Amino acid sequence: MRQNHFLSPTLRDVPSDAEVSSHQLMLRAGLIRQTASGVYSFLPLGMRALKKVENIVREEMDAAGAQELLMPAVQPAELWQESGRWEAYGPELMRFYDRHKREFALGPTHEEVITTLVRDDVKSYKKLPMTLYQIQTKFRDERRPRFGVLRSREFIMKDAYSFDTTQEGLDKSYDSMFLAYTNVFTRCGLDFRAVVADSGAMGGKDTHEFMVLSSIGEDTIAYSSVSNYAANIEIAPVVSKYEKSNEDEKPLEKFDTPDLKTIDELANSLNIDKDKLIKAVLFMVDEKPVLALVRGDHEVNDVKIKHFYHAQVVELASHEQTINYMNCEPGFIGPINVSNDVDIVADPAVEAIVNGVCGANEKDKHYKYVNSQRDFSVKDYIDLRFIKEGDPSPDGQGVIKFAEGIEVGHVFKLGTRYSEAMGAVFLDENGKSKPMIMGCYGIGVTRVLAATIEQNHDDKGIVWPTTVAPFDLHLIAVNTKNADQKQLSEDLYKQLKRAGCDVLFDDRAERPGVKFADADLIGLPLRITVGKKAAEGIVEVKVRKTDEVLEVHTDQLLNVVQDLTERLA
Ligand code: ATP
Ligand code: MG
Repeated sequence: MRQNHFLSPTLRDVPSDAEVSSHQLMLRAGLIRQTASGVYSFLPLGMRALKKVENIVREEMDAAGAQELLMPAVQPAELWQESGRWEAYGPELMRFYDRHKREFALGPTHEEVITTLVRDDVKSYKKLPMTLYQIQTKFRDERRPRFGVLRSREFIMKDAYSFDTTQEGLDKSYDSMFLAYTNVFTRCGLDFRAVVADSGAMGGKDTHEFMVLSSIGEDTIAYSSVSNYAANIEIAPVVSKYEKSNEDEKPLEKFDTPDLKTIDELANSLNIDKDKLIKAVLFMVDEKPVLALVRGDHEVNDVKIKHFYHAQVVELASHEQTINYMNCEPGFIGPINVSNDVDIVADPAVEAIVNGVCGANEKDKHYKYVNSQRDFSVKDYIDLRFIKEGDPSPDGQGVIKFAEGIEVGHVFKLGTRYSEAMGAVFLDENGKSKPMIMGCYGIGVTRVLAATIEQNHDDKGIVWPTTVAPFDLHLIAVNTKNADQKQLSEDLYKQLKRAGCDVLFDDRAERPGVKFADADLIGLPLRITVGKKAAEGIVEVKVRKTDEVLEVHTDQLLNVVQDLTERLA
């Protein structure tokens, strides 16, 4: 490709609205442009890299035996009403009316469409198992689109769906997608982990998120210091054991704590450790008030409450709800003398507190010398808190450390959630009708591209892995007015293309400084510079990743390019 007429507008300055490196570099290197908030155009360079990612995904899906199809972005409301998600999906679903006032949505995901497709055309166990996938544009009206295409409102996803007749069949389909994902992210040159994730109310084993390790990641991964255990902190179980101290229990005492509302204010003012405090947080769990108790130095994990109650929605109680159920404003609530309407659940660490401090359900008052059995009753002691760094790893090996990750992929065992709701059944060997057992598997293709840049760049620009680079190499004619340079670079362009190289040829009449800065910014793996020694047939080859520079005679150029490319792969 000749750069002279190529739409690759580079920017010298960092765009002020781009916070993270990948977003800045995608704008500066001319890969994307914003069309509306969270809505982007991919310019030719970006499009080429995107196609590379797409092809890696497609090859691995095909190798795993999945079949490609294409479903529409436009989905009728009835489908979503049938699955029960029309209301539940909330404002992220982009809805609209057609001219006949029929309601539609732009698909954020395709469980409904695929389930009806398979329902209508697959009737017998003989056709199953089957895994279908597409690479297609998704729409989600994200509350906070940000970081460019890392969290956008329109993005490209690869979504796959498996249909099996047995649970063991689903396990196999899941494992084969898991392997395909591992291959995809490895080939994209990403440093990633597959972590156990939240699977709604179904427990933790049946879903994994693929996380690209990055300090800008929105998810926190809890991983073991010694084993390969890794889980999203949302679900990582706490296995710590707590010893009760043998201190004598003292009589309960109410005391004044004007304006001391937070755990820190209390601990500082009373001059005690936070692990002596009982933190009480009121939640509304699908309409039901639940008072959750954790130790003062711990944080309540609402996902664990959601799982325990098999609930749809867990929200912090509002000011009014708190006053209504606790007869007290937030800041002073506690577990003593609580109405029977309110469930009290507590973390095991609370049971071990002797002579603790908690809110007295009265403004500006707390209790001290609080002891769990004696002073209040708990419906259930359950693991309620977020795991912390230094806690024992749940697999019994080592301690927990934290890392931030960007979720690039998600594999999930759906079971019969959609097949039952939408009547996707098959006849088994005995002619008995059964719901199909499903799995779903997503990769954010546009997000993968941004994550690749997030992990592969330096202060001068992108440093593309060879597998995803928009071109294999950048050929630069330093001075296009010099006849030798002009001639040699034109010859090499043809020669390299004939040899099967994807070449970006900087044939622009720009100053050398501009060309080199652009080449670094665009970041193709190899750069071939045709300069002063053109008359002798000597050019310079530079490796973007290592800054290594070689002077090479054109006779040897193809060999050198091939060797370096193999080394970089
Ligand atoms: P997130 O927690 O980041 O919102 P999600 O759980 O909503 O992700 P899934 O519904 O599992 O995501 O979608 C599958 C994949 O699609 C994700 O792993 C991610 O790579 C990608 N993805 C999801 N939302 C977006 C978005 N707004 N922009 C870009 N990619 C996205
Ligand atoms: Mg989301």
